[in-house]
Amino acid sequence: MAEEKQQTISAGQAMTELNVLLNGTALAPNYMLEQETEKTYDLIVHIMDNLPADEDGLSNYYLLFNAWIRWLADWQNYSLNLLHRRRLLGHLNQQLGINKFSLEIYPYSSKLYSIKPVPGKTEIQIHEALDYLSEYDCKRFAQFIRQRKWTDLKRMLAEYQEKTPQSRELSAHFQSVKANPTHGNQTRGRYYDLEEVFRACSQRCFGGKMPRPKVIHWSPRVNHSTMGSYNIQEDTLMINRGLDRSDVPAYVLDFVMYHELLHKALGVKTSGARRVAHTKEFRDFEKRHPDYERAQAFIQKNAKRL
Ligand SMILES: [Zn+2]
Repeated sequence: MAEEKQQTISAGQAMTELNVLLNGTALAPNYMLEQETEKTYDLIVHIMDNLPADEDGLSNYYLLFNAWIRWLADWQNYSLNLLHRRRLLGHLNQQLGINKFSLEIYPYSSKLYSIKPVPGKTEIQIHEALDYLSEYDCKRFAQFIRQRKWTDLKRMLAEYQEKTPQSRELSAHFQSVKANPTHGNQTRGRYYDLEEVFRACSQRCFGGKMPRPKVIHWSPRVNHSTMGSYNIQEDTLMINRGLDRSDVPAYVLDFVMYHELLHKALGVKTSGARRVAHTKEFRDFEKRHPDYERAQAFIQKNAKRL
């Protein structure tokens, strides 16, 4: 299962899905809790059993995801994660209100937390290393968010790290998950890793035969009109950073990647003095993408808000 997943969805997405599942388990009513807890645990063990033995060529995100699964497959760690979630979700529900926030716990190697107020909601992402927060600190955590006391929050978590060696060990553990060299490119985004997007697209649309562009990177800024570009002289492929979001489906990334790779595959035709990138031939190839229509529709509908 995990292997199939690694082909089709990004590690960021897999982590988000696992978070949804774990949150649901943590919030199960008392009479169901034990049953749900075991069911989710069995699934995690199943994913672990199917992790690829050879991790060569995996992106940073997948290395982290796999390390996270192995860590969660230890019953003690898993119970700790659930207990921590249950506490946090309880206090956040009290302080912010049900459905007024989202909580995700990640093994990200560098960031301890990120709190993003978006209209009508607060997006909360925290590192697994905060698992050892006391009940009291969980309550303060939720209060500080409600009161928007960011300095207090920062101070509290710094103190917590100071006095909690297990927490430091846990971040060190995930930090030691080192990435394979990715040609010095900045492919990792917040949700998507372009290395994975490229690999999946090359597999899916080019039978794995598309050579990797020399450089693949995110645009430095969000762009509302250009979803991607390919520079044939520099063999450099760029994807709009605005697409690096949890609510942008993977098939949209795949389609934009496909479009740009087509430029690499087909080159630029000249018509008189004019260079034509989107020839009829190009457009015909483009339509062969399995998600051509819904990806186009998504981009047209959402480009402005990206
Ligand atoms: Zn184009």
